[in-house]
Amino acid sequence: MTKDRSGELFDRAVTVTPGGVNSPVRAFGPVGGVPRFIDRAAGPYLFDVDGRKYVDLICSWGPMILGHGHPAVTDAVSAALARGTSFGAATPGEVDLAAEIIARAPVEQVRLVNSGTEATMSALRLARGYTGRAIVVKFAGCYHGHVDALLVAAGSGVATLGLPDTPGVTGASAADTVVLPYNDADAVRALFAARGDEIACVITEACPANMGVVPPAAGFNELLRSLCDASGALLIMDEVLTGFRVTGQGWYGLDGVRGDLVTFGKVMGGGLPCAAFGGRAEIMSRLAPVGPVYQAGTLSGNPLATAAGLATLRACTPAVYATVDAFADALGALVSAVLEKEGVPHYRSTAGSLFTIFLGRTEPVRNFADAKDQSTVAYSAFFHAMLDGGVYLPPSAFEAWFVSAAHDDEALSRVADAVPAAARAAAQALRAS
Ligand SMILES: *Cc1c(COP(=O)(O)O)cnc(C)c1O
Repeated sequence: MTKDRSGELFDRAVTVTPGGVNSPVRAFGPVGGVPRFIDRAAGPYLFDVDGRKYVDLICSWGPMILGHGHPAVTDAVSAALARGTSFGAATPGEVDLAAEIIARAPVEQVRLVNSGTEATMSALRLARGYTGRAIVVKFAGCYHGHVDALLVAAGSGVATLGLPDTPGVTGASAADTVVLPYNDADAVRALFAARGDEIACVITEACPANMGVVPPAAGFNELLRSLCDASGALLIMDEVLTGFRVTGQGWYGLDGVRGDLVTFGKVMGGGLPCAAFGGRAEIMSRLAPVGPVYQAGTLSGNPLATAAGLATLRACTPAVYATVDAFADALGALVSAVLEKEGVPHYRSTAGSLFTIFLGRTEPVRNFADAKDQSTVAYSAFFHAMLDGGVYLPPSAFEAWFVSAAHDDEALSRVADAVPAAARAAAQALRAS
């Protein structure tokens, strides 16, 4: 069989970059097969280099909440492009974007950076600089970018001292990270009782979506807030994924629990590299050039990125969130109903417009151990049948599905056409496993 263009490109790609990709999950490692190379996108659709069309249920892993090629965003970026791409000096767009974020989210000041990883890395440094303490608490299954101190696996104990999860992260950078099981109130209470005065910060996804969607149990974020208050630790709410996606205020708009520092990314960059961290002015003023905690960036607040982010946030009206929520509900219900009909046990975990369908289990998913108790074999079969049917799902069972305000009835009916064969493939994989 002759290779298609994606196959040819992948052969070339693996010779010039490790695994042929610039971010690991794009390599289709968890589901197998050769990744499709994308040529262009429009509204709710992706088009690959072989001319195949897909309903896009990744939306660039979150940013494209308005769909691809939204005219307000395209126009804003074109206008910025005509004025110059980077100056290394202050620009009006940075002020406007910061003000737009502050108007929506519970922060008094922000600093713009280029990626979510940079945002969490900088927030961590600031929390340690502000408190003069070392320990960082994170939860197993929460992803905060590839920051050394946060790439730490969970142990099985209650307050396991972190061991590095990947070669290249030294024991020293992991030693001050404590990993706890998510949604385990007793484990958090016990850690604070034992070591509360050593804890610089707790970092948590405001609503985890990087082990699949696993919402906080009732009162869990509130508990983190009150334990941090009592011990003088800072609470870092990571809203890189949920910020400006689940509501105009992010997850904060749903549970109202305020982080001392909040990290943003994805939607706020409108598809260009832009992210931010922010918090109370009293904490943020510890950053250089006002304070002693150093943080900087050649391309931070880049004028193309701020134009895309500003245009995106301004276009994110209540109607956009209503459309996204309604489509996600309809999509989730549709897929659930077909899986049900084909006898595929599954649990649909939802948080606003985000959801994950865990195959091969029917019990709620409360933490990473639960999330791992699903059939990734069934998901791979489901994923490939959907891809063949023209629907581009996340190539991993541990991810949220993302939709946009451009997803419409036509997109939904294309998905509806693809799901029965995929559900049968999943059923078959489950029987065989
Ligand atoms: C995507 C993500 C990050 C990392 O952002 P990058 O821009 O990929 O570096 C951090 N935290 C959360 C919750 C994310 O979903």
